[in-house]
Amino acid sequence: MSAHQFQTERAAVVDICLRLADAGFLAGTGGNVALRVDAEHFAVTPSAADYYAMTPAQIAVLRLDSLAQVAGDLPPSVESGLHAILLRARPARPASVHTHQPIASAVALTGLALPLRDPADIADLGPCVERVGYGPSGTALLVRALRKRLRADTHAYVLRNHGLICNAVSLAEAARLLGRIERAAAAWLLEQGREHAPDHPLRRIVQRELEPLISPNTD
Ligand SMILES: [Zn+2]
Repeated sequence: MSAHQFQTERAAVVDICLRLADAGFLAGTGGNVALRVDAEHFAVTPSAADYYAMTPAQIAVLRLDSLAQVAGDLPPSVESGLHAILLRARPARPASVHTHQPIASAVALTGLALPLRDPADIADLGPCVERVGYGPSGTALLVRALRKRLRADTHAYVLRNHGLICNAVSLAEAARLLGRIERAAAAWLLEQGREHAPDHPLRRIVQRELEPLISPNTD
């Protein structure tokens, strides 16, 4: 395989990383992005990537079956195995994005699934953002934890004490869905806060921090 193969797809991965980094969804060098490029390969961001300095040539291309690297100037993300689980299971959804987006990551600390209430969210993502048990980053333990929770009707998973992974028909659609999940997470945390008295510190914090994020208008 030539070093320049899948250049368009690798450039698209760089572009989406910049968008997600600008939105604060990647948290420094955290998070990573994968895109299936043909039946046997996927492109994935490099390990510990500086998203603002990343080039298409640095995007790794791996075999989907063995994770063997066939192109890219840098080693692939340590979460490549996590992406491969989703990409293998969902050929119709070639994009897989893992983020450390702040509000969904707060839900990840609870160890609970995030229920989805908006019919559009349910149509696009499934009945909930399913919870995945804790596994340290980049380990087979985390890959197994995701595999165990995989459901045919669910396209986003909240990783315990860590972040989120979402599978979509395109990178642009993944970015859109991640924004919707962030708002659903804010709405759910606010709902939990309302179970406390109005002057309870937790209720005041979630109201102050999250209410501005769920104003109805943008997608
Ligand atoms: Zn992570």
